[in-house]
Amino acid sequence: MLRTPENYILIDMPGVREVQLYDDRDALDMTFDDIAELAKSCKFNDCKHENEPGCAVLEAIEEGDMAYDRLVNYKKMLREMDAYWKRKGKGKYKSSRKRA
Ligand SMILES: [Zn+2]
Repeated sequence: MLRTPENYILIDMPGVREVQLYDDRDALDMTFDDIAELAKSCKFNDCKHENEPGCAVLEAIEEGDMAYDRLVNYKKMLREMDAYWKRKGKGKYKSSRKRA
């Protein structure tokens, strides 16, 4: 079995970490404010920053302005957040921050 004592701790405290992480919908944008800022310049409003044309985030990575790892971490957080809001029945996570 791959179970470790840590797994049991996680099972015993459902949602504790999530509440801290996802209490504020804008927390992700604040943590990754550079990506959020770049995303405003993406060609598409719903850009996933994967291989879309005119993606400002991918451009910044290509030009060496941002580490690729940062985008990977951002996407991971976004997936976790999506899953969290789906579980809560509130639909897909969307930033409440207004676009300029
Ligand atoms: Zn993009």
